[in-house]
Amino acid sequence: MSRTHRLGVLGWPVGHSRSPAMHNAALEAVGLGNWRYQLLPVPPALFAETVRGLSGAGFRGVNVTIPHKEAALALADAATDRALAIGAANTLVFEDTAAGRIHADNTDAPALIEALPFPPAGRTALVLGAGGSARAAVWALRNAGARHVQIWNRTPVRARALAAELKASPVEHPRPAEILVNCTSIGLEAADDPFKHLPVLANELSSHLCVVDLVYAEPETRLIQAAREHRVPVVDGLALLVGQGALSFEAFTGRPAPVEVMRDAVRSDIHFEPQAVELPRYGPRDGDQ
Ligand code: NDP
Repeated sequence: MSRTHRLGVLGWPVGHSRSPAMHNAALEAVGLGNWRYQLLPVPPALFAETVRGLSGAGFRGVNVTIPHKEAALALADAATDRALAIGAANTLVFEDTAAGRIHADNTDAPALIEALPFPPAGRTALVLGAGGSARAAVWALRNAGARHVQIWNRTPVRARALAAELKASPVEHPRPAEILVNCTSIGLEAADDPFKHLPVLANELSSHLCVVDLVYAEPETRLIQAAREHRVPVVDGLALLVGQGALSFEAFTGRPAPVEVMRDAVRSDIHFEPQAVELPRYGPRDGDQ
């Protein structure tokens, strides 16, 4: 019997993720019937230990989401230039050798640039947030030639630190920009009101040429709904999920990603139920009683 090759997504929390539905549909579509992709809910304190045990448990690679992206880069044995420049990784590939080296990449950044309705070169942008996904967005926009990138964050000191690192401008009172990118977690909860928590006014949304929301919700986040009502072109979190997932899929399997299948899977996966989880067993840890 052929062995099962495992993939998964590590996060905390991660129950909302549509990556398993998307990747399992893609694996089936390309005929990789002995591959499975699963949710891996792992708290920060167990992240490094868990990742190091995954290769031995049959995993070929994983995606990494909130809040582990910086830790993922830190534990990798090798990383792409963009992951190193961003300072965060969302994709870890495990070498199928005894050495079991871990390779890190960041596919959030190219997925954002590919999803925009126009190239960002020469454009202005406003990025909301200063976490792992904001790092990727700011780097991607600057690397693709955006003329000026403002960073706003609820905790201003984090915006200042990120802006200094990636040559952007920290702001507490942003000016209008052509591209608006929400990289905060506002919108994850249906009750989240972006116009209460973020420095954005609904009636000024039409001053942007494009509104991007990394967050995905069912049916859509309030920010995306409001932008559509103001006839502003949008890129929603599911489009970005598919973009970054397709690049990760190719890194995991070496096969071209069936992007249409992945797109259909995330958009139809309205009632996704988290799958059963199998994790490596943990040994006693320093400090355990
Ligand atoms: P992080 O935890 O690294 O960052 C969270 C950010 O949200 C911080 O800037 C934080 O600000 C801000 N924030 C949290 N609560 C509030 C609030 N009440 N008001 C204002 N700002 C707030 O998360 P990530 O950057 O990894 O991810 C952010 C979101 O993007 C998540 O929802 C994630 O699911 C989504 N995402 C989607 C992707 C996709 O493919 N569609 C890819 C990557 C991420 P502070 O510093 O003040 O705490």
